[in-house]
Amino acid sequence: MQYRHLGNTGLKVSEISLGSWLTYGGYVAEKNAEASIDKAYELGINFFDTANVYMRGEAEKVVGRALRKYPRSSYVLATKVFGKMGDGPNDQGLSRKHIMEQCDASLQRLGLDYVDLYYCHRYHPDTPIEETLRALDDLIRQGKVLYIGVSEWTAEQMTEAIHLADQKLLDRIVVNQPNYSMLHRNIEQEIIPVSEKHGIGQVVFSPLAQGILTGKYKKGASIPSDSRAAQDNINLSRKLTDDNLERVEALKNVAANENLSLAQLAIAWILRQPNVSSALIGASRPEQIEENVQASGIELSPEALAKVEEILQ
Ligand code: NDP
Repeated sequence: MQYRHLGNTGLKVSEISLGSWLTYGGYVAEKNAEASIDKAYELGINFFDTANVYMRGEAEKVVGRALRKYPRSSYVLATKVFGKMGDGPNDQGLSRKHIMEQCDASLQRLGLDYVDLYYCHRYHPDTPIEETLRALDDLIRQGKVLYIGVSEWTAEQMTEAIHLADQKLLDRIVVNQPNYSMLHRNIEQEIIPVSEKHGIGQVVFSPLAQGILTGKYKKGASIPSDSRAAQDNINLSRKLTDDNLERVEALKNVAANENLSLAQLAIAWILRQPNVSSALIGASRPEQIEENVQASGIELSPEALAKVEEILQ
C-alpha cells in the first residue's frame, strides 16, 4: 500500500481507503464487516470512513467495534455530520448546536476520544458558514477532532470557507469528499483546479460506481443475487443503463491489456490524479479488498489512459 498526504497536511493516509455506507451496520452482516475491516488493515489500509447518518449510527458502532483491537495511532478515522438524525428541528444540518451534539454522539458510538477527520456531509444554506467553521474550530481546540473537511460542496462554497477561515484565523478545511469515477467525472471541471489552488485534497467516494466498474453487471444478464444492485432498498439498478454497461465492456479490454481487473483499472485511473488523497472504496467481503488494494502504486500506460479517454468520451 502506498500513502499520500491528506490534502496539504502532514497526515499520511492509504491511497485506498475503506468506507461503510450501506454495507457495515447495513446489508453486510457484522461478521463479514469485521472480516473486511481486518483484511483492509492487514493489507495496509489505514484510513476508514463512516458518518453519523449511515444506518442512523449503526455503521459507526460496527466500525468502532472492529477497529477497537488496533492501536489508535495506527489508523485514521473519519466521520461526518449533517444528515437527519431525529425528527426535531435541530436534528440535522450544520448549526453549532447540532455539530457539538453529534460529534459527542459519534465519539460515543465509535468508542473513541477523538476522530481524525470530521466532515460537513453536505453544504447547509440555512447556517452561516462562519457559525459552522467556529464550531468545528472549537472541536479542534477541544481535541475531539484533528482535521476538518467537507463533502460535495461546490468550488464556490469551498472558496468562501477558505477565505473566511483565513480572515477569522480559524482552522481550514483540508479535504473535500466528492463522487468521482470513470462514470462520474464532474469534479475535473472546477473542483480539482480550485482545490489545487487552495491546497485541498479529494477523498473520492464510489470510485467503482458502487460496483458497476467491476464488470459484474452485464448487459442483458440478470443481476447477481449477492450484489448491491440486488438489494431491494438501494436504487442502483437504475444506473445499469445500456450506455454504462457498454462502456464497462470496452473498459474490460483495456484492463486485460494492462493485466489488471476492471476494478483495479478503475482505481488506478482515479489515483492518476495527484489532487486525489485517497480512493474511498466499499467492500462487502474481504476478497474484494484483496483485489482492489492491488491498484495501489500502479501507473497506467499512456496508451491505456488514451484508450480509457476514448471510451469515456
Ligand atoms: P464503491 O464504488 O467502491 O462500491 C463498493 C461496492 O462495490 C462494494 O460494497 C461491493 O458491493 C462492490 N465491490 C467492490 N469491490 C468489488 C470487487 N472487487 N468485485 C466485485 N464487487 C466489488 O464505493 P461505495 O459506493 O461503497 O462508497 C465507498 C464509501 O464512500 C462509502 O462506504 C462511504 O464511506 C463513502 N461515501 C460517501 C458519500 C458522501 O456523500 N460523502 C456518498 C457515498 C459513499 P457488493 O459486493 O454488495 O455488490
